[in-house]
Amino acid sequence: MSQTVHCPTCRTPVSWNTRSPWRPFCSERCKLIDLGAWINEDNRIPGVDLPDDSLDRITPWEDPANDS
Ligand SMILES: [Zn+2]
Repeated sequence: MSQTVHCPTCRTPVSWNTRSPWRPFCSERCKLIDLGAWINEDNRIPGVDLPDDSLDRITPWEDPANDS
């Protein structure tokens, strides 16, 4: 028996099991989109922008403070 949820970003049905590592999102892409939207809405961090075509080559959580 498996439970299905809907991706908060694109509403794709996602099986709630270990084969869906990004649940409740359908993919890492949707997870990043949702996180980006949340950051933009609540914190307004300059420079945090995730256009669709950048998600494939994004480096996960690299600290911009190290770039000095
Ligand atoms: Zn999705």
